[in-house]
Amino acid sequence: DPRLQGISKAIRVVPDFPIPGIMFQDITTLLLDHKAFKDTVDIFVDRYRDMGISVVAGIEARGFVFGPSIALAIGAKFVPLRKPNKLPGEVISEAYVLEYGTDRLEMHVGAIEPGERALVIDDLVATGGTLSAAVRLLERMGAEVVECACVVGLPEVRGQRRLDGKPLYILVEPR
Ligand code: 5GP
Repeated sequence: DPRLQGISKAIRVVPDFPIPGIMFQDITTLLLDHKAFKDTVDIFVDRYRDMGISVVAGIEARGFVFGPSIALAIGAKFVPLRKPNKLPGEVISEAYVLEYGTDRLEMHVGAIEPGERALVIDDLVATGGTLSAAVRLLERMGAEVVECACVVGLPEVRGQRRLDGKPLYILVEPR
């Protein structure tokens, strides 16, 4: 897909952020490039529009940038998976280990009905720990996770194309 090169180029790489040794993939520059931003959303929408997906679950914070546009375009609802103590209602919670630190994701109880077909969206997958926590949250609520999708994926993860047995869809590798 010729659009992928433009998407890759629009992502800025920031060395040593947030800590030394990390080559941070900064998607805010992708959002400044209308064509690259639209191409990113369009590719996901084309892939997911006919897959019977009723819920797009976006991971805080950068999954919130792409998820709602995709949800609106494919006729699904959007459910935010948030960092601890942000959601006001009753939540379920899953812990995960990050490349740099540990954290937890929470989801509102009642946001999803058992049997719903879900897509999980984030900007980047590194170890897959964050996506795995998201999948566990959705499955605890009885959803069927159809696929996890990210804009950027590390080559190792991209190569396997699966995550804990779930299909994983990645647009580009880090530069
Ligand atoms: P994982 O859990 O797969 O190891 O890490 C993925 C999570 O960390 C995602 O939520 C992602 O937003 C964040 N993350 C880790 N490294 C980067 C990076 O270089 N750029 C961006 N934008 N996010 C990152």
